[in-house]
Amino acid sequence: MTSPAAAVITRFAPSPTGHLHIGGGRTALFSWAYARRHGGTFLLRVEDTDQKRSSEAASRGILEDLAWLGIDWDEGPAFNRENPDGSTTTLGGDPRTVGPFYQSDRREVYDPFVYWLLERDLAYPAFDTPESLTAMRQQAEKEKRTFAYRRASGYDRDAALARMKAGEPCPIRFKMPAEPVRFRDEVLGEITVSSDELDDFVIRKADGYPTYHFAVVIDDELMGTTHIMRGQEHLNNTPRHVALMRVLKHANGTPFRIPKFAHLTVIANQDNSKMSKRDRDKAARAKCRELGIKTAPDVHAKAAGHTLAAFDAVAPADFEKWLGDKTRQLETHALEDLASVIGIDLPEIAVDDFRRSGYLPESVLNYVSLLGWNPGEKDAEGKDLERFDTAYLIEKFDFDRVGKSASKFDRAKLVAFNQDAIARLTDDEFLTRWAAWARRDDRETLDRIGIERVKLIVGAIKGRCKTLKDVRAVVSFAMVDDDGYEFNPKDVEKHLKADGGSGLATLAALATKLEALPAFDVQSIDALLDGHAAESGLGMGKIAQPLRVATTGGSVSPPLGATLAILGRPSTLARIRRCVGHAAG
Ligand code: GLU
Repeated sequence: MTSPAAAVITRFAPSPTGHLHIGGGRTALFSWAYARRHGGTFLLRVEDTDQKRSSEAASRGILEDLAWLGIDWDEGPAFNRENPDGSTTTLGGDPRTVGPFYQSDRREVYDPFVYWLLERDLAYPAFDTPESLTAMRQQAEKEKRTFAYRRASGYDRDAALARMKAGEPCPIRFKMPAEPVRFRDEVLGEITVSSDELDDFVIRKADGYPTYHFAVVIDDELMGTTHIMRGQEHLNNTPRHVALMRVLKHANGTPFRIPKFAHLTVIANQDNSKMSKRDRDKAARAKCRELGIKTAPDVHAKAAGHTLAAFDAVAPADFEKWLGDKTRQLETHALEDLASVIGIDLPEIAVDDFRRSGYLPESVLNYVSLLGWNPGEKDAEGKDLERFDTAYLIEKFDFDRVGKSASKFDRAKLVAFNQDAIARLTDDEFLTRWAAWARRDDRETLDRIGIERVKLIVGAIKGRCKTLKDVRAVVSFAMVDDDGYEFNPKDVEKHLKADGGSGLATLAALATKLEALPAFDVQSIDALLDGHAAESGLGMGKIAQPLRVATTGGSVSPPLGATLAILGRPSTLARIRRCVGHAAG
């Protein structure tokens, strides 16, 4: 039997500054898979001590993103996850655990450790003015060395402690020990950092809140974390944390433990740039430039039929600033309004972006697990095994196959994964998944078309959808009013007017038959069309295309029986009548 001390405890510790980045999703996935593989515990802790940048909405969004991915936490904030079958599962929230799990609710946890360090002169209050800090930084720059704050040689500890006790706000800094810091990274190997490179960093800010560096160390100790997985952007922070862990002790004298670390590679775009939320702004900005958009009214001028409610909440001056400044970001919905007006798909970056674009969580998880890891097995055809589910990931995941170099995000591959995953769903599963997705992310199609009508075409479209969002495009012909679409002139010419208007004659004959059809369903419509083909001696193309042009405006639509059934009899007939009038006029 393994002793409880050996049990694996991993955690995911997001800062709630926005939706979960896909890279954060991968960190969470690997931490979760590792805990599950070892029968351990997976914790979720919200690192919200940066009051200015954190928000409750963002915390909630991150919990939703994780739950959607199917990553469940054993301990962490309480969250009711809705399951596809309509039931709910409560994640986290167990009062017997090591919570609370929002760092902002843990403030009293940190101070005793701050005082413990202060008493031993392992930490000290610092009263530097912003000016003196700037001067130190400039001096370092002049001497061409990296600035690492150190306690001045003439520092008067007693005076500083007295000022602190008198209530003068000040940051508290950790006194970095002189010896080098060594630790082992499960992915990168042994790492040694000279103490010259490490500063006396702040552990408690002047506002009384702990810094990330301090809270993370205390919480990981108190929560018993055995393995810390996080992005490589934190690699420079880890020596600081290890230095703290080396000196810190509990009140009873028990020293802090040093967990195992695994820093995961950066996720890059195809051009090697870091995959960042700003990529969305960048894509929209480039398209605006291409279209000559320079002001908010320019956007309105192109907005025909698009809503700009969120975009209009942005001050026109701010929009202009955004156009000219690549560090600026537009609010998510405003950016989406803009994207639909200028006709681009924004690149998905956050987990929620993928969700809203209609990806299935299982294909996102499968694809993301390959970013910096692979199972090292071959499939039946002898190719690298890449398609698997989370049960397989849990069975196989270990650090020895986690890569050291940046992983490139290949959208085409994710799309292929998703298209295959959609094609593998049964018709019923597809409908349930689509409806659940549309309820949140495509209300308009769900309300206008409804699940019953989508059911009529599910067999025909399932294999063709790259994402659930594609349903909208397939049924778009039915989303407009009966007089709300244009007839493609070329199609009208070819399928209706050519051969002395034979297409129009077919339409008239079909309209009469459709009107008299007892049941207006896919089967009956198909049988009617077959019957008409046999009777008239016309090929199916000569029957189907005129009907398509009449009812959808063009020559591409789902199979005709389904197309007409979705529209229903009154609309079908109204559309045919309008088309005949149009072609004759
Ligand atoms: N709150 C940190 C972040 O979101 C997590 C760092 C860690 O996992 O230690 O980047």
